[in-house]
Parts: sequence; C-alpha cells; structure tokens
Amino acid sequence: MSDLKITQIDVFQVDLPYSGGVYYLSGGRAITRFDATFVRVTTDSGIEGWGESTPFDNYIASHARGIRAAIAEIAPKLIGLDPRRVDRINDAMDAALLGNESAKSAIDIACWDIFGKSVGLPVCDLLGGRTDTKLPVLESIPVADAEGTRKLTGFSVKIGEDPVVNAARVRAALADKKPGEVFLIDANGGMSVDAALQMLKLLPDELDFILEAPCATYRESISLRRRTNVPIIFDELASNENTIVQFIADDAVEGIGLKISKTGGLTRSRRVRDICLAAGYVMSVQDTSGSDIAFAAIVHLGQTIPTRNLRCILECRAMCDGKTADGAFDVHDGLLSAPTAPGLGVTPRIDVLGKPVATYN
Ligand SMILES: [Mg+2]
Repeated sequence: MSDLKITQIDVFQVDLPYSGGVYYLSGGRAITRFDATFVRVTTDSGIEGWGESTPFDNYIASHARGIRAAIAEIAPKLIGLDPRRVDRINDAMDAALLGNESAKSAIDIACWDIFGKSVGLPVCDLLGGRTDTKLPVLESIPVADAEGTRKLTGFSVKIGEDPVVNAARVRAALADKKPGEVFLIDANGGMSVDAALQMLKLLPDELDFILEAPCATYRESISLRRRTNVPIIFDELASNENTIVQFIADDAVEGIGLKISKTGGLTRSRRVRDICLAAGYVMSVQDTSGSDIAFAAIVHLGQTIPTRNLRCILECRAMCDGKTADGAFDVHDGLLSAPTAPGLGVTPRIDVLGKPVATYN
C-alpha cells in the first residue's frame, strides 16, 4: 500500500439551533444553538475525509472558537503525513498542542474516513469489526422538558440540584417505563453528595435507572458511590484514558459516557473502549452534540462494542436543527446498524456547510 499524504485541511462553520428552543442543564446552564466545526482533510490521491466537532460550551471545557483556533495551530503540522497512521497523526497533533481534544477529534475522525475509503471498508470494520448488535438509540431530554418522545429505546433525563424536584422528575420520567427502555438520570455534576443522598432516599428502591454524573468532583462522586447501590456512570469526569484507569483502580463506577470529541476522536475513543471492555464496563457512545457527521462517528464506534457492554448510542442529531450530510443512518424502532459504505458513509451537504472559513496547505 503506497503512502497517502495530507495535502490540505479545510475548516467549515455552521450554526445549528437547538431543536427544542432552550436546552437546560443543572446549575442554570442553558444553550439555544450549537456552533459546529467541520473539517475536510484532502489527500494527494484525491480521497477526502470529513469530521465534525460540535461542543456544548458550558458542559465541559471546550468551545467552538477554541476548536477552530486549535485547528489553526495543529493543521499545518499534519500536511504531508499519512492520515491512515492514526496513532502517528495523534502524536503529531499532541506535539503541536497539548489538550484541545475537541479540536483534534474532528481531524482524527476525518483521517478514519480517509482510511476506510482508501481500503474500501467502513470505519467500524477498521475499529475492530462490526458486531451483530442493532444499536439502541438514546435521546437527550433537557431539564425543562418533562416528556420524551417514545420512538427511541433510551432516555437521558436531565436533573438539577433540588432533591425534592429531582425525585419527582425521576418518578415522572419512569412512570410509564416500558420493558427494554433505559433511563439515564443525568445530573451533569450538579448535585452535592447531600442532595444526591436525599434524592435517592425519596425514591422507591425498585425504580430502575442509572445515575449519571451525580457530582462535579471525583471526591464527591466516590463518596456518594460508597453509600448507594444505585448503578452510577461517569460522563464529564471520564475525560481520557488516564481517568478511566483511575476509575477501575478505585472501583468507582459501572461504566461511562464515551463522548468522542471529549475523548479526542476515534483513535483515543478506541483505546478507551478497549480499557472499558477489559474492566467489564458498560458504555454509552455519544458526543457533546453534533449533526450527521458526528453521529456517523458515534454509530461506527458503537457498532464495534459487544452487546453486554453497550448501553446505547446518543441520537445527537435530535438536538440540532439542520442536516449537514446524507448517509444510511435511519433509525427504525429505536435501533440502527452502521452502514456498509467505505469510510464513515457520509456525503456532506456542501450547500449547507458553505465556503471554508479557513484552509491550511
Ligand atoms: Mg451526561
């Protein structure tokens, strides 16, 4: 296989309004639009790859203009490299700039897209091979929205700080829970240990839910963990492979929310996936937000995780108004499978993405 070389990296920006008006998280956090960054990596063979990184600005420490500023530092250092040597691409990105995983994610995903197209295989097969699992799809329900739609099989119900309000919200959300439906009760780190314990005391033992990101810090989360038998998963705190190793050492959780842009792309998410599999963790494959290209990356990674370790994947597209790419990613009865087309299997809508806001070559 002869070398491929990156010849150009183009950056696109699209505003994606939140589909439900205002999206509320704990602590009074609110968002009405997502500022999405798309990357097109072009090679000397003419093969192009696409990636997306759409942050949720007040959810973790990443923001849209920071993503594009970081790409400006990183992209020139990648010209001439073979995009299929994904670990080496990540080495080069780390050598250019520490951290900034959400910026690296878009470039990394585009490199996997190229890799797949260059060998005629879908990304899920390059990531280890597709399972037979039909992926259960989860929709995110913000704090202020009482009712989720029932076309999906999983629900991320956002809660706030007040234990009484939270307990009522959890009861309401689970009142007509159907067999097979999964409820993640997500505080986004908003509760004190005190408030979390109070909320749990107000709930009947038989309620079937998973508590996600109850507290902001690792110390609080471990403290709560020691005093409850409710399954707990981490999301915000699961920021990279080092944190996952610590969780395992401390027996801190049952699993994680594996968000691709938070982790830094598919290469690092693959590593986190494998560490979690070794630990017997359950994963929800997600991203902070995102439209069609971010969703494609979620689907391909999710398609490689054995059923017993896969909670669900996040239907991030449901959060964003605006279709940015086409592909075989239709959800049927709350389930879907990764497409078989080479690469990510997406065809970006250039008319929606517009002209590049930056070009590096
Ligand atoms: Mg979460």
